[in-house]
Amino acid sequence: MIIAIDGPSASGKGTLGRALAHKLGYHYLDTGALYRMVGLSVQRRGLDPTDQESAAAIAASLDPSSFQDSELRGEGVGSYASKIAALPKVRAALLKLQRDFAQKKPGTVLDGRDIGTVVCPDADFKFFVTASVEARAGRRLREHPTSDLAAITADIKARDERDSNRAVAPLKPAEDSILIDNSELTPDEALQAVLGAIELY
Ligand code: C5P
Repeated sequence: MIIAIDGPSASGKGTLGRALAHKLGYHYLDTGALYRMVGLSVQRRGLDPTDQESAAAIAASLDPSSFQDSELRGEGVGSYASKIAALPKVRAALLKLQRDFAQKKPGTVLDGRDIGTVVCPDADFKFFVTASVEARAGRRLREHPTSDLAAITADIKARDERDSNRAVAPLKPAEDSILIDNSELTPDEALQAVLGAIELY
């Protein structure tokens, strides 16, 4: 069983994916963390985020266990991640790792931007989680209370623009995905909505 959860940044898909995997006893992969790891390595080495060959080499030899979750979560890293995520060779280098993970038993939940469209087009369930820009910026501000709301909002809009308009694997709902508007839902309500949809089939 493979469950794909896609959506824009700060839509709450990570919280939902983690809770769903926990509830079902499945493995969970935050694919955004992979792009963040590559982005952080590019940033630390002082490389140009448009240098495709260097970023793809980093992606091909990625060791996920060498990164701390806390250093990956910052918005600066998110912005770097979305720049290197537009490079086709970086995406290709990360594809096998994601597809291999998806096959784990008894089942998997993967969240990202292109899970239902590119990584696992045959996923058993596909969800596309959206939320208003205001709700998403508010969520980020609660995670990083010392940040500036206007700067967070601008960053979210810039990432939406870049992720939605890139040539390879742009952010968009798969045709057979179930839409969840997470603007007003609590984490538990979002989980119940997804569990309800799974049970209906
Ligand atoms: O989900 P998160 O905000 O951690 O993702 C960081 C960036 O990684 C996104 O803005 C997006 O550009 C990229 N990404 C992607 N495809 C995925 C997951 C993340 O392009 N499957």
